[in-house]
Amino acid sequence: MPVDDTLPPSRLPALPELDQILYHFPKAFGIRADAEGLDGLPPPERGFAHKVPFSAGLPTNFAGATSGGAADFMGRTEFMGKAPERQRYAAARPPEPPEAVLLDRVLQLVPLRILRGIDRVVVLPTRGTARPGGYLNGIVSIGASEADVRRPDPDFSNRFSVFTTTVVHEIGHGVFQTALTPYQQELVLDRYVKRLDALGVIAPDEPTQQGTEHFFIDYFLPALLRFGSHAHGAAASRRVLAEFGVDLSER
Ligand SMILES: [Zn+2]
Repeated sequence: MPVDDTLPPSRLPALPELDQILYHFPKAFGIRADAEGLDGLPPPERGFAHKVPFSAGLPTNFAGATSGGAADFMGRTEFMGKAPERQRYAAARPPEPPEAVLLDRVLQLVPLRILRGIDRVVVLPTRGTARPGGYLNGIVSIGASEADVRRPDPDFSNRFSVFTTTVVHEIGHGVFQTALTPYQQELVLDRYVKRLDALGVIAPDEPTQQGTEHFFIDYFLPALLRFGSHAHGAAASRRVLAEFGVDLSER
């Protein structure tokens, strides 16, 4: 089954030059795609760490979610960056041509007004299933290996590539932090706490910021892709986002 075939067509050529990539994203989305100066960034006040296993929204396997390790979410593993941010970003690079083409297709799904707080998208090369990505200081980093643009994501019935779902996941962190008001974030948190209550298994350290953001992303992904995940249907996800005041219907 072809992956990503429901995404809009790319406006970039099939094999864009680096110049074209660096020119296109600021023009189309107001987002830089270069990695210039990232290694010189001051260390963040608050490091980004993915720490909540979020497979199917069920907080299981918290034993593996200790700080500095790797945690499962949505069937993958996201590296929890304990390394200083400048060291993390040292490997950051612009998207390669196949990634850039796909990134252009994915970003077209996101209303521009909710992308406003995101300044840059870069790729952090990964090996295996580690996901060193995240959102920090206006910068979305996508943890990706070369094969991810072709590898289907089983969490979405193999209809989308791992690169696509990873991009939407990390953009979701950025959207939560920059496009949602404190009140909207509170709405998400309330609902997340209710979910944890309903499950009756609350890990001692929940609700965390990351857990709350992953709860939001669990709806953001199917809503944007217009395709249900193993956890939530697309239409239901749109309704939940509407309850949070996040409208994906117009740009
Ligand atoms: Zn995450």
